[in-house]
Amino acid sequence: MKPIVIVGGGFGGLYTALSLARLPAVPPIVLIDRNDRFLFTPLLYELLTGEVEEWEIAPRFRDLLADTPIEFRLGNVTQVDVEGKYVQMVSEGMITQLEYSYLVLAVGGVTPNVPGGALTFRTLGDCYRLDSKLRELENSDRDRIRVVIAGGGTSGVELACKLADRLGERGRIRIVDRNDRLMARSPAINRRLALRELEERSVWIDLRTSVVAVKAEGVSLQVNGHTEDLPTDIVLWTVGTAVPSWVQELPISNGHKIPVNAYLQCSAPEVFALGDISQFSPPLPATAQVAIQQAQYCAWNIFHLLRGYPLLPFTYVPLGEMVSLGTDRAAAALFNRFPVNGNLGYWLRRLVYVGRMPTLNHQLRIFVHYLSTLNR
Ligand SMILES: Cc1cc2nc3c(=O)[nH]c(=O)nc-3n(C[C@H](O)[C@H](O)[C@H](O)COP(=O)(O)OP(=O)(O)OC[C@H]3O[C@@H](n4cnc5c(N)ncnc54)[C@H](O)[C@@H]3O)c2cc1C
Repeated sequence: MKPIVIVGGGFGGLYTALSLARLPAVPPIVLIDRNDRFLFTPLLYELLTGEVEEWEIAPRFRDLLADTPIEFRLGNVTQVDVEGKYVQMVSEGMITQLEYSYLVLAVGGVTPNVPGGALTFRTLGDCYRLDSKLRELENSDRDRIRVVIAGGGTSGVELACKLADRLGERGRIRIVDRNDRLMARSPAINRRLALRELEERSVWIDLRTSVVAVKAEGVSLQVNGHTEDLPTDIVLWTVGTAVPSWVQELPISNGHKIPVNAYLQCSAPEVFALGDISQFSPPLPATAQVAIQQAQYCAWNIFHLLRGYPLLPFTYVPLGEMVSLGTDRAAAALFNRFPVNGNLGYWLRRLVYVGRMPTLNHQLRIFVHYLSTLNR
């Protein structure tokens, strides 16, 4: 039988592949990703402050999948032919085609409309670019390092707290958001705690303000119809999530996202779409939590199709939100209601995330590493 092909080895794709591999007698599983590493994005901020090491949050697929029947292929998928049931990918400069019996698309989101000169914070490469810019500034003789973060969602707030802690006295951090409050989609308790931590770190917050231009020497902000220029060393762009343009152009897309039914199938029933690129009804947030839960249902539903069993409708269970608020601190709103914060919140978040890592081997490696660092 033709393989089950999974495109994208993130929270949707990798976790589907691992769940499928645990089920009996499924066809060969091929996982394609353009990177050779999985990335646990919720802990990407901690790489900036040295709280985690690269191997913890970005393990290589080769290592993760070593004890599984999943075949990993490194390649950039550029096209899907839903009629012909194959994907086209570019690998080591060669264009190849791969036929599938079932296809899972989970290539994740991109940051839209990023102005030239602004940095994004989504990938390992983004994190290292920011880190090297910070090092350059830290090693210079300037007494202030000025950072503007466009976007006051959880990502902007988490970055602001981490950067404030990393830069200390030299840091001048500013969050700019055109809305009238930060973390608008977060539980109220997390918003309150975040505001307190931002205030403690003297982070400036400019609400109802837009970044209208990024220039070599700074940014132009628009507030109340007036434009003002602000000298800045780093501009970070954390505004929004969009679907990659080649996915938007697929015939199974509605021009924005890929609509899916209750079973996570798109208009071609053998094709599933998960995570940031899929459009479920009712709409779901673009989070790892959603993608991981969808992955489990996707694996079950492919298995059920193979066996001729009835499919399982996907139900999302919001487990709450955890945000890091600087080094050694975090806020967690469990089931969006029960708050845990400060250092306890930090350790709770770290332990929950160990349990969310993709394989038991990797979870154990990290856990042993934590225990060894406690003794130092
Ligand atoms: C900094 C940051 C922090 C976050 N923190 C949280 C958090 O605390 N909690 C939470 O729930 N969510 C968080 N999110 C959101 C979360 O990361 C995403 O919602 C989640 O990763 C979506 O899963 P996915 O499977 O759709 O895509 P991803 O996990 O992004 O995986 C997509 C994969 O597809 C691969 N890929 C992309 N294009 C191609 C291609 N053309 N060919 C082959 N492979 C391709 C990529 O390399 C990647 O491995 C955060 C996101 C960021 C950027």
